[in-house]
Amino acid sequence: MSNPCALHALFGGTFDPIHYGHLRPAEALAKITGLEKITLLPNNVPPHRPQPEASPTQRIEMVKLAISGNPLFDLDLREMQRDTPSYTIDTLAALRLERGDKQPLAFIIGQDSLLTLHKWHRWQDLLSLCHLLVCQRPGYRSEMETPELQSWLNLHLTSQPQALRQSPAGKVFLAQTPLIDISATEIRTRRHQGESDANLLPPAVSEYIDREGLYQNL
Ligand code: ATP
Repeated sequence: MSNPCALHALFGGTFDPIHYGHLRPAEALAKITGLEKITLLPNNVPPHRPQPEASPTQRIEMVKLAISGNPLFDLDLREMQRDTPSYTIDTLAALRLERGDKQPLAFIIGQDSLLTLHKWHRWQDLLSLCHLLVCQRPGYRSEMETPELQSWLNLHLTSQPQALRQSPAGKVFLAQTPLIDISATEIRTRRHQGESDANLLPPAVSEYIDREGLYQNL
């Protein structure tokens, strides 16, 4: 049986490709908050949205290579395995059912995602299911996009990592994670221009991109 006070977090993303801007802040967050496990949750991108350049199989493979041998991370493919939109709220509700009401559960996002959280499906219900852990991201301001989102944030903020274990859900924690100025867009663009992506992502992922001929020179 799982420890009821263990803190487990999910980290959703397109991961087209996964990079150090995902991995380094998440690792720092684990140290700051004592997270036992981070489950990477690659999104299914619905057909009406711009599709990732890498296929679902390639995005999964890159995540596997990036976390290979690192016990902090594991992978959950449930959003990839359905062909309907992957709403975070639905995934969290399913996990709540599996884990029960008492287990603290957290969802990791970057500062850019927090600023536009009010655009997420049923965003105000998210905190009934999880805590939100927010990593800093360079180039994004700290004020929310709408006053409503700002008031909601002020109401739920905690600066105490231990508060994340004292309740199963309901808090937002802004973590002082290292600022890593990397995006998947930058990596794809560099590759399209024939430039190197060294130091932006794990070498095994970079080698996989080479082998698969992904993000080729335009
Ligand atoms: P793209 O450039 O294709 O939009 P991305 O690099 O932003 O991709 P995603 O897979 O869309 O990566 O991001 C998944 C999550 O990771 C989001 O919550 C995002 O805020 C966070 N994230 C991505 N890059 C960083 C970074 N450099 N620092 C902190 N958080 C990040």
